[in-house]
Amino acid sequence: MCYRPAVNVRFRCRQCRTELEFDVRADTPERSPCPQCGAEIGLRLTDAMRRHNQVDRCAVCDCPTVYVQKDFNRAIGVGIFLTGAALFLVCAWFNRLVEGTLVWAAFVAADALLYKWLPEVTICYKCHAQYRDVSPNPHNRPFELGLAEKYDPLDKRVGAENPAAEWRSR
Ligand SMILES: [Zn+2]
Ligand SMILES: [Zn+2]
Repeated sequence: MCYRPAVNVRFRCRQCRTELEFDVRADTPERSPCPQCGAEIGLRLTDAMRRHNQVDRCAVCDCPTVYVQKDFNRAIGVGIFLTGAALFLVCAWFNRLVEGTLVWAAFVAADALLYKWLPEVTICYKCHAQYRDVSPNPHNRPFELGLAEKYDPLDKRVGAENPAAEWRSR
């Protein structure tokens, strides 16, 4: 059998909120205790996930719909943007508008390139479990607020713009 990278799952224990992480392999058990508090964690590992590295539903909470987004650290993106803006202002201060504009353009291009080459992360609408190293599943679409309302109506919309940035503290 040839080697395939396994799906990497990250989620929080429902009981103690410890962040747990594991790779889904053919022999990954469906039930195992939380290493922190011992609460039993049940997983529904589908054939698609075990064999094809595809997320077709959430293994943690069985939510049938997940979404994909860029695995992007927003702080880094904003940092690049602000550095470019600051350099532009310095150039403008010294009446170097042409150079300033070029510097600015370079930073914007760098930001866009970085974004383009970033890997994607698959996230559950309901429990916000994160799946990495997955094979693309055409059924999984980008984040839709309507679907988030449907599967997670109690969410107070904190961080709804980027749900992966923060784990809910419920
Ligand atoms: Zn636990
Ligand atoms: Zn889930």
